[in-house]
Amino acid sequence: MVHFVGAGPGAPDLITRRGAALLQTADCIIYAGSLVNPALLGLAKAGCAIYNSAEMTLEQVLAVMRQMEAEHKTTVRLHTGDPCLYGAIREQMDALDADGIAYDDTPGVSSFCGAAAALNAEYTLPAVSQTVIITRMEGRTPVPEKEKLASLASHGATMVIFLSIGLIDKVQEALLQGAYTASTPAAVVYKATWPEQKTVRCTVGTLAQSTKQAGITKTALIVVGDFLGRCYARSKLYDPAFTTEYREGIKP
Ligand code: SAH
Repeated sequence: MVHFVGAGPGAPDLITRRGAALLQTADCIIYAGSLVNPALLGLAKAGCAIYNSAEMTLEQVLAVMRQMEAEHKTTVRLHTGDPCLYGAIREQMDALDADGIAYDDTPGVSSFCGAAAALNAEYTLPAVSQTVIITRMEGRTPVPEKEKLASLASHGATMVIFLSIGLIDKVQEALLQGAYTASTPAAVVYKATWPEQKTVRCTVGTLAQSTKQAGITKTALIVVGDFLGRCYARSKLYDPAFTTEYREGIKP
């Protein structure tokens, strides 16, 4: 059996209890070496075979999984954050389906949640934005035409941009073509939840310059939107005048 497991954003104690238990019992761990905290490999049992997928192709990853399956062994495929975002799990799952190899998926804390925590931020502030757009700038991996950054930026919603810190000039340019202005708040979070975590607060107009000044070139998220500003409306749910299924509102 193959277990896809979300490792969480970096801090080793942010993996789920289920994910940790699977790591402790695995006969083989294939981990996404560039981003998964190696401290998690300390959970592996003695004799566990460990592979760094950063140095492997999909075919090589599948070959290891098939070999383990043939020996009736358990493999953990450890992905950073949550496997469902930019995890390239679908192609692995489809190949396992074709081979009749059973698998399951254990979620993890995505880095976009780690970044919000690092900023003490709420992405969905009432009267500011109720939508989070998760996307990336096109680079060597293309992005469908209708999802181009400038077009998504036209909503002015909260935006979290993965895998794009190396293209920061283009990101800034695309954001300014949308609904954001040079003074819209933005932030860059480097290695959220790792000991070396760094946060840079800036505006869309100073995004590229601030990122370069901070020396951030990889493993970072760009977050944009007025959720980083001062103004918002308070929640209805906790408003004393608001009646809910659990609480009678008091008349003002
Ligand atoms: N599945 C992962 C994302 C993998 S794509 C998740 O859910 O987080 C890899 C990209 O994620 C990196 O280029 C970076 O943009 C972002 N990333 C991953 N871990 C990060 C962290 N701890 N802090 C900031 N960004 C991170």
